[in-house]
Amino acid sequence: MAREITVEAVLNALGRVNYPGYATDIVSLGVIEAVEPLATGGGFAVVVRQATERDEVIHELAGAINGTLTRELGVRRVELRVRRLEAELGEKTGRVRLEGTRYVVAVASGKGGVGKSTVAANLALALHRLGMTVGLLDADIYGPSVPMMFGVGEERPRAAGGQNFYPVERYGVKLISMGFFLTDKTPVIWRGPMVMGAVRQFLKDTLWGTLDFLIVDLPPGTGDAQLTLAQQVALDGAVIVTTPRDVALLDATRAARMLHQLHCPVIGVVENMSYFVCPDCGERDELFGAGGGAKLALAERTRVLAQIPIHLEVREAGDAGMPIVLARPDHPASRAFMEVARRVLAAMPKEETSHVLGVPIGTVRSRLSRGRTLLRSVLARL
Ligand code: ADP
Repeated sequence: MAREITVEAVLNALGRVNYPGYATDIVSLGVIEAVEPLATGGGFAVVVRQATERDEVIHELAGAINGTLTRELGVRRVELRVRRLEAELGEKTGRVRLEGTRYVVAVASGKGGVGKSTVAANLALALHRLGMTVGLLDADIYGPSVPMMFGVGEERPRAAGGQNFYPVERYGVKLISMGFFLTDKTPVIWRGPMVMGAVRQFLKDTLWGTLDFLIVDLPPGTGDAQLTLAQQVALDGAVIVTTPRDVALLDATRAARMLHQLHCPVIGVVENMSYFVCPDCGERDELFGAGGGAKLALAERTRVLAQIPIHLEVREAGDAGMPIVLARPDHPASRAFMEVARRVLAAMPKEETSHVLGVPIGTVRSRLSRGRTLLRSVLARL
């Protein structure tokens, strides 16, 4: 039976398997790198490009591939070979890149204008103040604001040979932003594939060195850039930014659901512009109502990391090129951002206990670093 099945037929069948949590198939997404008949006959090896370390995603994917090929197509034996993206990059350049990053944390929001970039910038600096080495990847392709918030001016990432470049460093934080690569004349019509390409490029070509944290300022919404990141780098968690307004909370709920679908742990909700403190009388005014963030956190089984007050100084600090955490460490907003950082730090897994298909990640990594694609598992034997 299996002898009659062609590689093309296998690829066609895989074209009906969606990436877990998505309505797009794994062939279109470029997750399938190759399909090869097994040297021993009787089946096929499927080479999967995989960046996530999450057991459940890999298991789900493996199960779906296996089920489709064995049950629908009648393939007798399927071997899944998982190729980790970071190792691939390391092989090409001789450098370890995201391998050198301990934690990758995304800052997400359901819509623009809620202060996502402000939170990302201040969180990065707050973690740095806690003694962490930190990188900030401004993947907000539609409105990159990191260069302005960090007062970068004309400086651009330095070339480092080949396609690689060094991030710009400001206040001890390493920065990469789409804003560095756009000119005034660049039309910012980043359609799906271009967004994916741009984010991929960021991840591939930046020499971050060793980082405790890479903070990723995601574009608002639930689109392609998030999917790309989920595919190419394992997110250790995400922070959702919202304002307490009902409409914003609805969008934030969508963002939370998307992150759950991506199997990305939601560390918590940052409720921004929560309240206003009258500079004259000191009275606290909940402009947009109270308890919205808490409601969202409860519904999405997460928690509120902090409530950030609305303050002119927060905006002014950002506009002036030095975020408030640095410009005014004693400010109530800065104290709230420090609290977010402490909670994010506390939420990170302390040890690498993850397993891929029963094999500890450490083992996978060391084998991959020897430069070979790893044969992961024999999924079916009939
Ligand atoms: P987003 O990334 O969600 O689009 P930004 O971080 O760019 O949002 O913030 C939008 C605007 O609101 C900016 O001008 C920013 O300075 C301002 N802003 C954000 N948070 C606060 C705050 N807590 N108090 C005052 N202004 C704020």
